[in-house]
Amino acid sequence: MQQETDTIILSEAVDSDRNVWLAMKHGWATACPNCGDGRLYGKYLKVNDTCAKCGTELFHQRADDAPPYFVMTITAHIVVGGILVLERLFSPPTWVQLVIWLPVLAALSLWLLPRVKGALIGYQWALRMHGFGGKPLDDPEIGLPPAPHKAAS
Ligand SMILES: [Zn+2]
Repeated sequence: MQQETDTIILSEAVDSDRNVWLAMKHGWATACPNCGDGRLYGKYLKVNDTCAKCGTELFHQRADDAPPYFVMTITAHIVVGGILVLERLFSPPTWVQLVIWLPVLAALSLWLLPRVKGALIGYQWALRMHGFGGKPLDDPEIGLPPAPHKAAS
């Protein structure tokens, strides 16, 4: 009975308080946003349906194409900045710039993508977006007036 009460209290505490920065930090580390222990991905970017450690449902995530946008923004600032600095200091031929910056761009993008996606999933989880709050908030039927009846023709 005591354990059941503790479980209820714990789940209420978790429901009422989700630390956004901690969840994003866990996500950045490609870990479950809730416990920070279970693995977020089964493969490179394939999100596990649930956390193997704490059972948190992860399939509610809808990172969609936000991670690539953020990754492009970050990598563009680094790579374009690097190109400009190198050009200003040494004015190397174009092929030198390409040999240096194309691998940097590819490696940085591949390294950042799961981390940025994880941080976004942590953000969504902490703010109870897309069903992470236990309620189907994305259901288009909720909060809308009933659909008008079609007029008989
Ligand atoms: Zn977990």
